[in-house]
Amino acid sequence: MLVVMKNDATEAQVQAVVREIEKLGYRGIPMPGAQRTAVCVVGNEGAVQDSSLLVLDGVKETIKVTKPYKLVSRETHPESTIITIGDVKIGWGKPTIMAGPCAVEDEKQVLAIARFVKECGAQVFRGGAFKPRTSPYSFQGLGEEGLKILDKVRKKTGLLIVTEATDHTNIDLVEQYADIIQIGARNMQSYSLLRRAGHASKPILLKRSFAATIDELLMSAEYIMSEGNTQVILCERGIRTFADNTRNTLDLSAVPSIKEASHLPVLVDPSHAAGRREYVIPLSKAAVAVGADGLLVEVHHDPLHALSDGMQSLYPEQFRDLMEGVRRLTA
Ligand code: PEP
Ligand code: MN
Repeated sequence: MLVVMKNDATEAQVQAVVREIEKLGYRGIPMPGAQRTAVCVVGNEGAVQDSSLLVLDGVKETIKVTKPYKLVSRETHPESTIITIGDVKIGWGKPTIMAGPCAVEDEKQVLAIARFVKECGAQVFRGGAFKPRTSPYSFQGLGEEGLKILDKVRKKTGLLIVTEATDHTNIDLVEQYADIIQIGARNMQSYSLLRRAGHASKPILLKRSFAATIDELLMSAEYIMSEGNTQVILCERGIRTFADNTRNTLDLSAVPSIKEASHLPVLVDPSHAAGRREYVIPLSKAAVAVGADGLLVEVHHDPLHALSDGMQSLYPEQFRDLMEGVRRLTA
């Protein structure tokens, strides 16, 4: 349930509502909005008795929230969320572009790619220091050394950094170095990691698992938000189907579906979806056309020798073409 406050309700009145919700045995989470503040009731299994809430000062009405994901739901927060980090906005109406190699390999490689993608107009640099690999024998990332290299990229280029935390052993470190903490597809339902991400001081980029429904993705986002971190960005990166022409099947319908159900921004990662660089530009344009709030794209200066995901990494000139295509679509 949502307790909607009057436009002129005071902070003290909001806090009185939170206390009354706690007396009823639930949690009340204030959700400030552009028009009005609402307090979302969480922790209830069935309907909540609202008579003791409706009589409190400053309360306008109560609204039943039908979805199991309360804080993530657009019912609770009708305006789309815009995430602001420094000068960069995500979810504001034009696509935010995050680009870089799959993995941080060495300083020279990373700086060369970062300078290039920045010159083309990317706002965020991506690159994994901790890599979740299918095989234990594949390159697992440089770890903290990789994070230090990403820190240099930020200092030398001004790009923001998105990089993945793969488990509890590295999320503290990643939180120190990243501007956005990525939780990858394989960890979308690692609930203890999601709860930890909910206490992070940085926004979270949560990728859809290749075997998850939209509702499951949104419930995972709810784990993060229920711990207090409201800065969540969702990412469609392809799901597993019977189609074997691509690494995964890019589910573009996820974008309008998520936007209907949730106020959170949605990115598309065409690289992990396609698995082949030839498809990344058309899929990127399609993602932008369908309303994605941004792209997460793999770019490598020498993809043939990349330590991971070279097949799907764009050559720098292709990334320039991608940016030009996106610009034309959004001009
Ligand atoms: C990545 O973005 O580097 C990655 C590993 O992606 P995913 O979790 O979607 O496989
Ligand atoms: Mn990759």
